[in-house]
Amino acid sequence: MELEPQVSDTNQDMIICHNCGAKLTFAPGTLSLKCEFCGALNEIKIDEEAQAEAVKENDYLSALQNLSDDQLEEVHTVKCNCCGAETTFDSNVVSSKCDFCGSPIAVNQSSTAKVIKPKAILPFVVQQRDGHDLFKKWINGLWFAPGDLKKMANEQQISGVYLPYWTYDANTITDYTGRRGEDYYTKENYTDSEGHVKTRDVKHTNWYRASGRVRNSFDDIFVVGSKSLPYYYLDNLEPWNLKDLVPYDEKFLTGFKTETYSIDLKDGFQDAQKKMQDTIDESIKKDIGGDHQEIATKSIQYNDITYKHILLPVWLSAYRYNEKAYRFLINGQSGKVQGERPYSALKIAGFITAIVAVITLLIILLAFFFADTKKMYYYCTIIAYCLSKLIYKTIQP
Ligand SMILES: [Zn+2]
Ligand SMILES: [Zn+2]
Repeated sequence: MELEPQVSDTNQDMIICHNCGAKLTFAPGTLSLKCEFCGALNEIKIDEEAQAEAVKENDYLSALQNLSDDQLEEVHTVKCNCCGAETTFDSNVVSSKCDFCGSPIAVNQSSTAKVIKPKAILPFVVQQRDGHDLFKKWINGLWFAPGDLKKMANEQQISGVYLPYWTYDANTITDYTGRRGEDYYTKENYTDSEGHVKTRDVKHTNWYRASGRVRNSFDDIFVVGSKSLPYYYLDNLEPWNLKDLVPYDEKFLTGFKTETYSIDLKDGFQDAQKKMQDTIDESIKKDIGGDHQEIATKSIQYNDITYKHILLPVWLSAYRYNEKAYRFLINGQSGKVQGERPYSALKIAGFITAIVAVITLLIILLAFFFADTKKMYYYCTIIAYCLSKLIYKTIQP
């Protein structure tokens, strides 16, 4: 049954099923909205012109000076006082705790802000049910994890959040100065331990001044526009397949939260510049040549800078264990999992005890081996059984 829902382009609260009046939410893995109540699917129409526009780059310098109204949007956000994460306030998604740190959040912390509108969005592919299964599987597979974590994983919910990203393109021209080292070898006589005179090669390096100009071209340098999650885990969520980007449309956001960027366009470009350094240094070293290279100074011109603001899908669970926040993340497109985890001191101590016990056992065995063989087998079986039980209890999640 295909039903035509009433969809308003301006207000996502109006995205309701005209059959039953229930709210429609985006269905991961499709390009459709689904009625949670009667199951009606409605495809989100993607305009060809809008698709071409979505992947087009915007000029960075002119955006810094002036942004037109159609490049901006007003959002209602809720900010977490604990970790600073600011997400859109969506009446479809009710939650009493922060998805980024697990601390309680009050709806009266909401505010309004004018921000750069995303150009494109990577819709969710991984469904919530599958995301939750991945979470449970991950928790259950952890070694040295506290025993009650497993129970908690079954109760813990995961939330779908679109994270803000910037991508930058730039052409750089770098003037550098430095030194080039060239190795050469000389023969040297020496006397070995038996008193024979022999020759050997000795390495030396001649250093020469070097300077020059290198050019680099950068395409889609990725910068996360958020400080709420550890960079390490976000970097490990890559790669993202940006071929599946679709034009930004609020309909994709229904049923999900969207984090508003806290690293703005300008700060984001500074992060991008840092990411470009290694490539530029490599070009300089190649240009210097020789066996060794030293870079003394470099001056970089960034030309033709363009940017895109995009939203990427992440399933997120922040769980608190012993008053500490741990985050679990899933790439909402590929299903790749990253997470922080607590360790059980008790289990680790138990494991060390078990290892010490094994060593002790070996010593006892050796002592028995030279005394009474029959007795040795008897004790050996009992001790081995107890130890295997102990080790199993220790390492199981
Ligand atoms: Zn319905
Ligand atoms: Zn928080």
